[in-house]
Parts: sequence; structure tokens; C-alpha cells
Amino acid sequence: MRNKSKILVIGALGQMGTELTAALREKYGWQNVLGADIHPATAELQEKGPYFKLNVLNKTMLGRVVSNLNVGQIYHLAAVLSANSETDPFRAWEINMQGLLNVLHVSRKYQMDKVFWPSSIAIFGPASMRAACPQHVGGDPMTVYGIGKQAGEFWCRYYYQQYGLDVRSIRFPGLVSYTAKPGGGTTDYAVEIFDAAVQTGSYQCYLKENTGLPMMYMPDAIRATLELMESPEDKLSVRTSYNLAAINFTPRELAAEITKHIPDFKISYSPDHRQHIADSWPSSIDDRFARHEWGWRPKFKLSDMVSDMLCHLRKEVYA
Ligand code: NAD
Repeated sequence: MRNKSKILVIGALGQMGTELTAALREKYGWQNVLGADIHPATAELQEKGPYFKLNVLNKTMLGRVVSNLNVGQIYHLAAVLSANSETDPFRAWEINMQGLLNVLHVSRKYQMDKVFWPSSIAIFGPASMRAACPQHVGGDPMTVYGIGKQAGEFWCRYYYQQYGLDVRSIRFPGLVSYTAKPGGGTTDYAVEIFDAAVQTGSYQCYLKENTGLPMMYMPDAIRATLELMESPEDKLSVRTSYNLAAINFTPRELAAEITKHIPDFKISYSPDHRQHIADSWPSSIDDRFARHEWGWRPKFKLSDMVSDMLCHLRKEVYA
């Protein structure tokens, strides 16, 4: 990282940011990874490592942080997720698009070594292939979140091609984790179901039982991010965002796997507006570019993820 030694994570308190910040601190040293989010700093947060309040829409403040604190890499995770974006599309557009543009602008100005920004399977839509959706296919996003991700991918490629800014990106599927609550995405059911199974033994799912979606356990998502960021630049041909796949399942299949551990677990279905979004997304993703170019391999199958989630929830969250 030349003379700029610090890593800045924006959106550090979110579902992904919580675990990515911890993983980066473990790898690069806690003092070298600065966590930032729109929420105020608390003593508890600062105990884990440097943390400060930052609104990514404040470009001047972002520039000051980057230049004064010797930042050489930015992981930009701050966003409004798919389902929440639909309730206030213009606010979501501003945070998701202007936030990314601010990060790209500041990264170019202060010559970041690398930038990471996650995209999503939400760039796909009804005209995309339902199964094994390929890397290079025109997007067809139906949500304001997906439109922003699609546009953001092209902005990332533009900054790479025009200005040589090394921006790297992954199109994540739905992420499952236990450390932080999900942030209002269409795939949140796959996190909520575990809390409900452990706490009450039953769950009412807002998607239909046979809604198959691509998903990933958070440890795989964190490892993928670190592996992509460590890959030699000349290996990477995709400068929009890499398709990435791990597990595909329906709510019924997930519930059946949970029932192996909690035999009395009951699930019911009451689809809401999120069904429409889920129906527009592919049920599986072709990630051969990530596999060939930087060696991506998922580790967690559905059964591994369910065992691990329940074990951690019982031991650490609801002990
Ligand atoms: P999240 O909603 O859990 O976290 C986002 C964080 O950004 C929150 O802590 C929030 O406080 C912060 N934030 C919001 N507005 C901000 C602002 N103006 N300035 C600074 N911080 C702000 O989201 P997540 O699940 O951690 O997602 C992280 C990234 O990964 C996002 O870009 C998201 O689109 C992408 N992604 C997530 C999933 C998933 O299933 N969670 C799937 C695909 C892609």
C-alpha cells in the first residue's frame, strides 16, 4: 500500500460491514482499519478499533478523512438495500449513487491504491436468464436499487478505464449472517428465519415457498472480498462487477434443513411486495469468470450454513 497505510470501511456497522471490518482488522491490524458509518461513535464501537461518524454524501468530509488519515484503500459498503429503497426511491438513489460517485471522485483525487464496492444480483431482471445467469448479459433491473447497482458498475469501469482507478466489485447474492441484523433487502427472510427458529420455533415467510434465489453465507462473502482485493490486477478482466455464486435454495428447502436441527420448527407463507422483486431475479448465477480469474470457490453448502448459523446463534446471541 505504498506510503498510504490505512483502510477505510464506509458502512462499517451494516450486515456486511460488521464482519468485513473485523476480518480486515485481523488481517492488517486493528489500528490500520478505520470504520465509518452514519451512526455516531460510541465508546463500545471505538473499543474495537478506530471508528467515526461519516455521511458518505458529505464529499468534503470524506476527502478530509482520506487525506488526513493516510487512507490508501476504501471499501464502500454504505447503501439503502433493495426492499427499503422501494419505499423512498429518490433518497435511495441519492445515497446509493451520489455516495458511490463521491467515493470514486475522492479516490481518484487522493490516488487510492484500490477501492471495493459491492454490486448485487439486483442488476438482473425479467429479461435475464433465470438459471445460471451469465456474467456478460445486459442488466434488466426492476428496482431503483438494481438500477443504481447497474449504473454504479458502469461508473466503476469508467473510472478504471479513464483514470486508472483500481475499483473492484462483486455482484453478491443474498447474504446470510448472525452478527448484525439485515438491512432491508429482499433476501432478509433467510436471516430472520434463524432468529425465529431459535426464539419462537416458527416463522411466517414473506416469499412463496418455492422462490429459489442465489444466496451466500457471510464467511464466504468476506473471504471472496479479500481474495478479489488481493488478486493481481492483470488477472482481472471484469471491471464492472463479478458474478459470484455459492448456494441456491427456496424457503421450503431452507426450512427443511432447519427442521433437521429443530424438529418442531414450523413455517407459514404470506407473500408481500418483496415477492415481486424476488420473482424478477435469477434463481442461480454462472460465476465462471470469478472461478477462472481469481480462483473463487465457495466453502459453505446449505447444510453447513444451517449448522453453523444455529450453533453461533445458540452460543453467542441467544445463550
Ligand atoms: P446494511 O444496510 O446492513 O448496511 C449499510 C450500512 O450503511 C448501514 O450501517 C448504514 O448505517 C450505512 N449507511 C447508510 N447510509 C449512509 C450514509 N449516507 N453514510 C454512511 N453510512 C451510511 O447493508 P449490507 O447488507 O451490509 O450491504 C453492504 C453492501 O453490500 C451494500 O452495497 C449492498 O448493496 C451490498 N449487498 C448486500 C447484500 C445483502 O444481502 N446484504 C446483497 C448484495 C449486495
